[in-house]
Amino acid sequence: MRILPWIIIIVSALLALSFPIDVQPQVSSRNQGNTIGIESSKGPTEITAIGHGSLVINFGNKVIHVDPYSSVADYAALPKADQIWITHNHRDHLDSVAIKAIANSATQFIADPESAGKLKDLGYERIVALENGIEAEIDEIHVKAIAAYNLVREREPGVKFHPQGWGNGYVATFGEKRMYIAGDTECIPEMASLGGIDVAFIPINLPYTMPPEEAVGCIKVIFPHVVIPYHQGNSDPNIVAELLRGSGIEVRVLSLP
Ligand code: ZN
Ligand code: ZN
Repeated sequence: MRILPWIIIIVSALLALSFPIDVQPQVSSRNQGNTIGIESSKGPTEITAIGHGSLVINFGNKVIHVDPYSSVADYAALPKADQIWITHNHRDHLDSVAIKAIANSATQFIADPESAGKLKDLGYERIVALENGIEAEIDEIHVKAIAAYNLVREREPGVKFHPQGWGNGYVATFGEKRMYIAGDTECIPEMASLGGIDVAFIPINLPYTMPPEEAVGCIKVIFPHVVIPYHQGNSDPNIVAELLRGSGIEVRVLSLP
């Protein structure tokens, strides 16, 4: 029977034709390790997950650190910050040691109002305080503060880990591409009106935010092109990938400190 090898070749060729190679045109080939690349009309943006809630964004010649935390990296070895964005005043998000290692007198901060006050006390001057829903534009990067809070999880009866109106998430725009950094939050109704999101960072750790199974609920509402489960704690980001298989949302599973 000589016909079987030919059938295998023909079926293989048909299968190859039916699966286009470029299934995710929104994200560039700059994806490597813990770095997510986005191409926009204003050039490439590279977002690197450092660990926990910490990110480093490279856009043009600017370096932006988000919630730098010295427990997950040696910040003295990382690039200095043109901007630092702080989501809220918890020590794993507003860490004076990490900030001191990357900030200089020109560094521009964006922060929730309480963190802005603390940064001022630390001696920093170039601070934009954003309440939930307020926007700013620095160095051609548009940033909008989004609410971030617990609906159910509490430190003690009646006291949420993250009360409503206190901390921020951020939607940042690089060219025409939009990134959402959720901050420490559960699935809140504000996520339904973010608009189109290309890349989303969603927290999955307990007890402070929400478990992966619950995060999947709001990821489906946000419907980003790519989602990165971050702020992982002991949670397994693979659960997010499994539950979103076939949804049309690409899940980048990173193993983060
Ligand atoms: Zn927190
Ligand atoms: Zn946190």
